[in-house]
Amino acid sequence: MRMAKQGLILLVCLLLSVGMQARNVEVGIYTPHSLTSVLVKPASGSYEMYAGEKKILELESNVLVTLSLRNGLVAVSIGGTELGEFPELKLSARSAESTLRVKPLQPSLKESIYDDSFEITGARGALRMVNKVKLDNYIAGVLESEIGMNRNIEFLKVQAIICRTYAVSNIKRHSSEGYDLCDQVHCQAYKGKSRLNLLISLAVSSTSAQLLTDRSGKPIISAFHSNCGGQTYNSEDIWPSEVSYLRSVRDSFCAGSPHAIWRHCIPVKDWVSYLGSYDKTGLLKKDTAARDFRFEAGKKQPFYIYKGVVVPVKDIRRDWKLRSSYFSIRQQQDTLYFEGRGYGHGIGMCQEGAMKMAALGYKHTEIINFYYKGVTITDIHNQGLFKE
Ligand SMILES: [Zn+2]
Ligand SMILES: [Zn+2]
Repeated sequence: MRMAKQGLILLVCLLLSVGMQARNVEVGIYTPHSLTSVLVKPASGSYEMYAGEKKILELESNVLVTLSLRNGLVAVSIGGTELGEFPELKLSARSAESTLRVKPLQPSLKESIYDDSFEITGARGALRMVNKVKLDNYIAGVLESEIGMNRNIEFLKVQAIICRTYAVSNIKRHSSEGYDLCDQVHCQAYKGKSRLNLLISLAVSSTSAQLLTDRSGKPIISAFHSNCGGQTYNSEDIWPSEVSYLRSVRDSFCAGSPHAIWRHCIPVKDWVSYLGSYDKTGLLKKDTAARDFRFEAGKKQPFYIYKGVVVPVKDIRRDWKLRSSYFSIRQQQDTLYFEGRGYGHGIGMCQEGAMKMAALGYKHTEIINFYYKGVTITDIHNQGLFKE
């Protein structure tokens, strides 16, 4: 009995320590640019600079360091004094308060402030700067970059869980480039430390380690969009496959929001030639009767059908750069008037609907369960998903 109890205590300690050791996220910063020279300086706290295992410098808040690409190496200089050229540098944060100011000089770009540590190498003709950032610091930065100054804590909690889920399920996306995720919308926009919206850190810490999993325990595809126009899509209406939790829901919450409706007009002759590209049987050429291209979206439909010509609405959205694929068409003489609803692909969570739900007093768990069907909020460490 005693042995069993000791074993249990050991197991609990082990699980806790695994939790404590959860890995950082490695985010490539300024990824679309080929940086060849940057200034770095602690914005708060201090840093230690390592070349390989050797400490070469202590950086206090008044120390300004230039890092430049030279012969494929990283050249370090302080106030015009060269310290040397190194294949790999580490800037190690000395405390949780340490933040680093980064100002690209070549090319000249806006400076940003980042939490935690860095690794800098010369790679593919540029400096590769990787921010090794604690997951929750990264999530807070993403929230501020993606949704800015929103003031509703329940909505921010929803976004924190969704962005964390996304980060975990895409963690190997850039492994061939030497980091986990990029800092662009390709992964999730990340412009450094969250500093402006103080509610964000509260939302992130109160949902710390939480992510959404499906029935098999896998992190979900946490798709979201700006406004669904009143009904979200089933995943297979727009994407190639059916996903159990991405089901169509009727959403009355987003009506009246900024992106609820849109309009667009297209000349009939342009529409006829567009439909021609989908006309496999030559039907349009033979079709000489008065043409009626009207279309009622009604319940969301995946296809626009004109007689035998079938066009996926997602293609129409892409080809005509429409805000959404949820639209009706009115015809008046030589013009088609598209009357559309919503903004975005329409799958998963509708952000403007979720914001309204939060404003009406719904809890973040209720919002999540409204838009994602049959998902579970899981602790990242219980799943063993995110450890070294
Ligand atoms: Zn990316
Ligand atoms: Zn909606």
